[in-house]
Amino acid sequence: MIGRIHSFESFGTVDGPGVRFVSFMQGCPLRCLFCHNPDTWDINRKCQYEMTPEQLRDEALKYRSFIKSGGITVSGGEPLMQAEFVAEYFRLCHEEGLHTALDTSGAIITDKVLNVLDNTDLVLLDIKTMDAELYPRLTGVNQNNNLAFLDILEERGINTWIRHVVVPEITDNDKWLHKLGNHVAHYNCVEKIEILPYHTLGTYKYEKLGEKYKLMDTPALSAQRANEIRKMMSQYKPCQ
Ligand code: SF4
Repeated sequence: MIGRIHSFESFGTVDGPGVRFVSFMQGCPLRCLFCHNPDTWDINRKCQYEMTPEQLRDEALKYRSFIKSGGITVSGGEPLMQAEFVAEYFRLCHEEGLHTALDTSGAIITDKVLNVLDNTDLVLLDIKTMDAELYPRLTGVNQNNNLAFLDILEERGINTWIRHVVVPEITDNDKWLHKLGNHVAHYNCVEKIEILPYHTLGTYKYEKLGEKYKLMDTPALSAQRANEIRKMMSQYKPCQ
């Protein structure tokens, strides 16, 4: 079994607790307007690494002394496009006593995905929007599995951090932010909400790929507004 991996981050500090070895997997079925990693979209695009789960585990173990109180994370792209590979990688990491985190949009729900969850300690679930009308325009796909995925995490008692990208004029909307907060407040598995302010750092990648960047005129979310939203959302769950 070979996994297609876009890149690694050896000392990640934002994708789960502690210092983490983060693998960014190639491939994503979504086309989020705000995506800053469009180079991960095409699963067949030339990627930096092609490895077996054992090889990826060995790569992670090179950093064992740094990540022993943190762990490993798979992100993307959408790592669940390579669910079989991730399931085996997580199983091997658990054998080594490493904490495993999955950064996903929850867009794919299959038996293979459920196998991944058997060895997942933490899910970073990117909820794109609670607005059903906005979802297809925002993500480029019609079906939104976000909330069904969250139900599965609740059933299985898997610790979950909700991530939400706030884009000025698109998802920066108090009504829908409150809907999100109200919804996740009822889930015991949800430990916290992370507000991710929209930024424009990935726009140069679109130029390189010859893709049109549709949010060219959208400004980054200000730090002040991001903090206001965090304060507002902390009535539902701890928010950062
Ligand atoms: S799910 Fe993530 S990687 Fe995929 S398009 Fe959206 S932001 Fe980009």
